[in-house]
Amino acid sequence: MLRVAVVGSGPSGCYTAQNLVQRDPGVHVDVLDRLPCPYGLVRYGVAPDHEKIKSLQGSLRSVLEHERVRFLGGVRVGGPGGLPVERLRELYHAVVYCVGAATDRRLGIPGEELPGSWSATEFVSWYSAHPDAADAGFLRGVRSAVVIGVGNVAVDVSRMLVRGAAELRPTDIPQAALDTLAASGLSEVHMVGRRGPAQARFTTKELRELGGLPGCEVVVDKAELALDTADPGALPSGQRRNVEVLRGWAAEPAATAARRIRLRFFLRPVELLEVAGRVGAVRFERTEPDDRGGVTGTGRYEDVPAQLVLRSVGYRGVPLPGLPFDPVSGTIPHQEGRVLRDGTPSPGEYVAGWIKRGPTGVIGTNRPCAKETVTSLLADAPALGRGDVPTDPVAALRATGVEPVPWNGWLAIERAEAELGARLGRGVVKLSDWDTLLGAARVP
Ligand code: NAP
Repeated sequence: MLRVAVVGSGPSGCYTAQNLVQRDPGVHVDVLDRLPCPYGLVRYGVAPDHEKIKSLQGSLRSVLEHERVRFLGGVRVGGPGGLPVERLRELYHAVVYCVGAATDRRLGIPGEELPGSWSATEFVSWYSAHPDAADAGFLRGVRSAVVIGVGNVAVDVSRMLVRGAAELRPTDIPQAALDTLAASGLSEVHMVGRRGPAQARFTTKELRELGGLPGCEVVVDKAELALDTADPGALPSGQRRNVEVLRGWAAEPAATAARRIRLRFFLRPVELLEVAGRVGAVRFERTEPDDRGGVTGTGRYEDVPAQLVLRSVGYRGVPLPGLPFDPVSGTIPHQEGRVLRDGTPSPGEYVAGWIKRGPTGVIGTNRPCAKETVTSLLADAPALGRGDVPTDPVAALRATGVEPVPWNGWLAIERAEAELGARLGRGVVKLSDWDTLLGAARVP
């Protein structure tokens, strides 16, 4: 029997566990998560109104309910108060780190720390009920918001900002976030790319969805599209379709909807400007294409008023104490999923998902990524299996003062979320703080 720990129960962790048990009947997997709830970014990153993507939880659930897979929530690995990676390594024949990319990239411009300036991940965590997220008064006094970046996260947060109560009520969004978004006086979202429409990172399906939001119009400036020198016919199909959708919107006459999403291009953020102690505007420099896919500054500037700024410029992996880390890519160095220490594969240590390859790709990208790692691990299995590990790692975890939340604890949280929803006259409504989650998990 080979005992494997998978750290992280998001898509990469679940696909890794699934691949392991499917390919080797002798493998037993514990999936550890620092939260009492499984599914990682599917629960805490996919927007609440994207029910179809969220329904993936059903297939991840069947992995965690597999007879040779066990979910152990509430187990922090590494860092202050966490189980040291060296100790974890002693408890299992192999450990696969699927810890994702837990933080956001920085802009590195003046004013970034002003009140009212947040990373998109902080905003996403709040409306997703992440227990570490705070209600930071994101929308207090906000009439205009700037979202910096034109990836799918930027599309998600822009869409959530303009969604009305009627659209959000049927989702599992926590009640406080629903009330705040429903009461917001926001009328304008500026979503801004530093390069052109042909270089935008969003996918066409997500982009198109912006055009169908009730009570909201999408505004695109024809002149900004015209700056793009890329030949649409020569673009890869995804980018070509994006440009077509944007051109369609640019050709539409102005409407009079209560809310607007303005999609802007060729504007590079240079400073967040302060008004009365908080962010009041973003200063952008107009850029122009350099014909190599990049842009150059023009020395012309534009200030866009905003009482809320969401920096949506990508996620970034964080170092896990005790494991190597490449600060440039924000990933753990690896060879086909084997963790490299000083350039040499470290026996029994593996990575999969965003901490392996960086924060790119859709959920499905994690399948082949996990498969590659599992192939390496199973090739090493004969040597790894000779290691001496405890029969039950949970007893050893308890001895270190860690009391894992078992699968039944998670099922109790699910029941509590259904009961809360019923009390509020809604469907399932997420619990959003540690005490309530852990209290619910203890209900037999
Ligand atoms: P992303 O796709 O990497 O987009 C980041 C955006 O930030 C790009 O437009 C980038 O512009 C811009 N940016 C980076 N540094 C900047 C700077 N200093 N100043 C101004 N702009 C800057 O990242 P993401 O949106 O966080 O998404 C992460 C991954 O999750 C992606 O693979 C995404 O597709 C996926 N995701 C998918 C969905 C979905 O399928 N529905 C939803 C959410 C996320 P440049 O291109 O010029 O660098």
